[in-house]
Amino acid sequence: MTVVVAIDGPAGVGKSTVARRVAAQLGVPYLDTGSMYRAVAWKALEEDLDPADGLAMSRLIAGLHFELRPGNDEAEVVVDGAAPGVQLRTPRVDAATSRVAVHPAVRSWLVAKQREFAAREGAVVEGRDIGTVVFPETPHKFYLDAPLEIRAERRLRQLAGRECGDRGRLLSEMRARDERDIRRSASPLRRDETYELIDTSSGDADQVAARILRSVRAAATGP
Ligand code: C5P
Repeated sequence: MTVVVAIDGPAGVGKSTVARRVAAQLGVPYLDTGSMYRAVAWKALEEDLDPADGLAMSRLIAGLHFELRPGNDEAEVVVDGAAPGVQLRTPRVDAATSRVAVHPAVRSWLVAKQREFAAREGAVVEGRDIGTVVFPETPHKFYLDAPLEIRAERRLRQLAGRECGDRGRLLSEMRARDERDIRRSASPLRRDETYELIDTSSGDADQVAARILRSVRAAATGP
């Protein structure tokens, strides 16, 4: 049986750390779908294209060679032979990504790759629309949430040592990114009653991962 665990939620809520741990415990691959949207945005910036221009983004992906290369604990995104790695994590790419992610053509192109990836041996898949659009049929859906200030602090720590401007700026950029993700018409960030909601403002990643694992295992063994 292949298991697909969907983990959705806003920026900086701790999804990646938790999803990685859950995947390791379940022995299935981990897929960070944000890095796929980030890779398209990174490529658009490299080519001096406007991420908000839907037609330009459709043309970009039509010529793009995109690969999810299996790594030790997660798939590495490779575009046109280049692995952008940490270059995907800059605030400039953050902002461009939520602009790229509004275009239905980009989304359906990436969603097909996400489904193909998880169909092989299951996966823990992290993103914004995983339980609503990509794998709506999975019984394992978790929505992680925490107040914006706490999420911004977490992101500041992740960016430590890298160019990220000041705290106030990061906070307002994160707020704007969340707004774009929630308000867009194509696959907005939202949750329904099929999700288990987990507040990550208190408790560490291990506790959140343990809670998810308990739920997944309980659902798998039945009442
Ligand atoms: O998760 P991460 O912060 O890396 O995601 C970057 C951006 O990619 C999000 O702000 C969102 O605009 C977009 N995204 C998305 N759908 C997903 C994953 C990410 O729209 N499934």
